[in-house]
Amino acid sequence: MKPPAVSKGVPVCSCCGEPAVIYQPASKRHLCGRHLMSDVELRVASTIKNESQIHAGDRVAVALSGGKDSTALLVIFSRLLPSFQGSELVAITVDEGIAGYRADTLRAAEALTKKLGVNHHIVSFRDLISNDLDALLKGREKEACTVCGILRKKALADAARDAGATVIATGHNLDDEAQSVLMNTLRGDLPRLIRDTGPGSSSLFLPRIKPLAAITEKEIAAYLFVQGLFSVLPECPYTKYALRAEVRTMLSRLERLHPGTMLHLVYSKKQIEKYCEGMVVMEPLRRCLECGDPCSGEICQVCRLKHSLGK
Ligand code: SF4
Ligand code: ZN
Repeated sequence: MKPPAVSKGVPVCSCCGEPAVIYQPASKRHLCGRHLMSDVELRVASTIKNESQIHAGDRVAVALSGGKDSTALLVIFSRLLPSFQGSELVAITVDEGIAGYRADTLRAAEALTKKLGVNHHIVSFRDLISNDLDALLKGREKEACTVCGILRKKALADAARDAGATVIATGHNLDDEAQSVLMNTLRGDLPRLIRDTGPGSSSLFLPRIKPLAAITEKEIAAYLFVQGLFSVLPECPYTKYALRAEVRTMLSRLERLHPGTMLHLVYSKKQIEKYCEGMVVMEPLRRCLECGDPCSGEICQVCRLKHSLGK
């Protein structure tokens, strides 16, 4: 028999009747901590399976910032990966050099990998470009996320390759994906909105997967909270300059008023991808004339950035 929705004024789990910790508007279910955990892990497992994200023998590099998304990803992977025969996990943390922010998340990342017994590599912008992000941004703080994004992608890709990884997993969740759809739409950037299907992309880049793309930020926070793994960490001081922060606030409000908004945005992106298949011609990838990394023009974004920073 289906448990009642409410007991003594408290919502209860739609599966077992225990007190609920979360309501899922998409499935119209209340879930207790135990059923939330199994639901999240099952949905991540089915994303991996449906999209063939991981194969037996893969060495998966998890981009571990130490924040809640990547923490959840590593915890889930440490439970799921044994079912992919011979697969291995390695965690990579990029230290951008951001005062008042990165030290705490680095400590959290180190503690987690130690607890889970996962091999942990830390790479820094200082190693990559001989400077911390803070120093690079003097007078150009508004460009923080663009500069940070380009360098972080490079640092992560290099570290993953050095660690012998065959695939890179990031903790992007459903909220992040919906925000990206809206941001790329606001910028009028159709090629970035749709998937990169440029020829040669798979052989020149390590594949990147987003196993949490169907899980909301709220579900991830609750997933960690019920296991005692949730901790409040400082926010990056450059967040205030990011378009993403404004889009995030706007979308959270819309989601509250119109549940399903974020899911619909991600669905729209998939529809656009489908309709545009073969219509948008991506520039073929080649090698950067300066560093040899894959890129679509003559010089890659990192080398262009180095020039603009006078490096
Ligand atoms: Fe980098 Fe921007 Fe994220 Fe800060 S908010 S870590 S600057 S991308
Ligand atoms: Zn280059």
